[in-house]
Amino acid sequence: MANPKRKLSRASKGHRRAHLALTRAQLVRCTHCGAMIRPHTICKACGHYRGRQIVVAENG
Ligand SMILES: [Zn+2]
Repeated sequence: MANPKRKLSRASKGHRRAHLALTRAQLVRCTHCGAMIRPHTICKACGHYRGRQIVVAENG
């Protein structure tokens, strides 16, 4: 069976994982209602996307 020749040191493991951090989701304002939404997504509050109503909002 293939097996690593040496133990991977804590430093090496840390160096490899230095780029694994999660980033916060970017938020933009909805052009219709001003709610904070993720870019390129339909607004959950008003159902608009790029100036047009796509879905009918659940409450309102
Ligand atoms: Zn909206």
